[in-house]
Amino acid sequence: MSGAAGNPRITAAERRARAKAAPGLAPETLARLARQHPTAQCELVHRSPFELIVSVVLSAQTTDVGVNKATPKLFARYPDARTLAAADPVDLEPYVATLGFFRAKARSIVGLARGLMERHGGEVPQTLPELVKLPGVGRKTANVVLGVLWNKPEGVVVDTHVLRLAQRLGWSKRTDPDKVEIDLCAILPREEWDHTGHVLIFHGRRCCYARKPACESCSVTDVCPAAFDAEHVGRKASVAKPGSAPRRKSARAANAKKKPVRGRTSAKALPRGRA
Ligand code: SF4
Repeated sequence: MSGAAGNPRITAAERRARAKAAPGLAPETLARLARQHPTAQCELVHRSPFELIVSVVLSAQTTDVGVNKATPKLFARYPDARTLAAADPVDLEPYVATLGFFRAKARSIVGLARGLMERHGGEVPQTLPELVKLPGVGRKTANVVLGVLWNKPEGVVVDTHVLRLAQRLGWSKRTDPDKVEIDLCAILPREEWDHTGHVLIFHGRRCCYARKPACESCSVTDVCPAAFDAEHVGRKASVAKPGSAPRRKSARAANAKKKPVRGRTSAKALPRGRA
């Protein structure tokens, strides 16, 4: 591993320089991450376009692993748009009960199947405008389907991992997924748009974790502006539960602020994450 790996003391000036260079280096950085994750691909198990689009709709707010556990029985009972379109959403609920928002998702995939039957003869259409008109299908779902099935997405899929990684790698400063997608499309070649989502999602799941990113195992520490300091970059602020009391500082933290200890390097002077 090169560059900053093994030398996490990166100065603020170096981080600023990296952030400035990051968009221009994005294709090369992506290629290096792709070499780190040579098997990066869609992790939703599917045997047909119908199974993929249903799986993507079910994957909202839940893990691909959870969806993959639920779908074999679902697709054994409802193997195509015709059988699913004829179902009562209530009858589907036991098949998707392990997934979050399962009642809404049961309704959603039946609506999707009915849309496929009514407008496309049960087949999954191959254009973004047609896909996003289907019930339950948004731009993100449509681009996953277009990319995985036909390698012709109209953009980069921006999920929670891609959003976080785009900010850490210095590819976007924005937090709105639609705007981050615009930034990514501007700095990455079109033929990489589909691959980008898979590589960043793999990296987010296996190395650049939201909490405690494993920078020491990362292949791009020498160019990443957030290397060894990424814990708080690209993560949503924690939201206090309604009615809960505001968090109080621990006595130790409060005292540490009041009484600087002479002769010791202050925590502030050390790189964040190493203090
Ligand atoms: S924050 Fe760390 S793990 Fe994430 S991309 Fe940068 S160097 Fe790699």
